[in-house]
Amino acid sequence: MPAQHTPNLEALTRAGVRALMDPELRASWGILIAFTQRTGGRSSAPYSSLNLASHVGDDASSVDDNRSTLLEALDIEPLRSRLTMAEQVHGLRTREVAGASAGMGAFARLGEAPPLPETDALITAEPDTPLLLCFADCVPVIIVAIRPVRAVAVVHAGWKGALGRLPASAAVLLARRAGCEPSDLVAYVGPRIGPCHYPVGEDLRSLFVSQFPNAADTIAPPRDRLDLGAVVSQTLSEVGLPRDSVFVADICTAENTDSYFSFRAEGVTGRHGALAAVLGWGR
Ligand SMILES: [Zn+2]
Repeated sequence: MPAQHTPNLEALTRAGVRALMDPELRASWGILIAFTQRTGGRSSAPYSSLNLASHVGDDASSVDDNRSTLLEALDIEPLRSRLTMAEQVHGLRTREVAGASAGMGAFARLGEAPPLPETDALITAEPDTPLLLCFADCVPVIIVAIRPVRAVAVVHAGWKGALGRLPASAAVLLARRAGCEPSDLVAYVGPRIGPCHYPVGEDLRSLFVSQFPNAADTIAPPRDRLDLGAVVSQTLSEVGLPRDSVFVADICTAENTDSYFSFRAEGVTGRHGALAAVLGWGR
């Protein structure tokens, strides 16, 4: 099957919220993806301002308002009851969101269903079901299937997820769900801590070198700095995604704390988000 879409990300601002998005993917295929920045919300320092995570000590009503602000900015506010989130634990579990699991975890203030437990990758083929995971340095990955069935995956990968090839296993499950091959998927690797700001000790360095034959791609000079984005794109390539079907954003969160939250650079801080949704064709 020929390439269906060439992934691309551009920074767009709407209603004060700035995010990296692929407008052509939405226009042609009705699939929305967004990697959010931290501005345009109502949380105060150290969570200023568009903090999307409820587990970091921020005021719950601010977090709920920020999630609503994001949905409005993305023009999907009517889908708020189906916004689905997960309890991220740096594990290797992928869950499919369907039926009753749609809408879990999104709006804590309403006392509704808790987030999907112990899950670091979400998949859905259900239209109008936005998936949202939260990040501050870890690698956000969005994977998209266009046909025969439209479906999306959102993945949270720190070093454990990258080492355990979680984005690649989510891609394989997504392809199976969509009835295509992994080579038909497109993927986006979003803003994350870059090798410039991620020195690692000998234990971690040797773990990655032992797992990845092409270690020069994963451990950047001076050989003790880990490039998680390169690891993730290498593992997506291993399961069949063509290199030109994977867009890797060239943004380090730790050196861009005006735009992104960084746990390593800031300690107590908020979380930006990666969101994906298959939109109903009428939307
Ligand atoms: Zn950096």
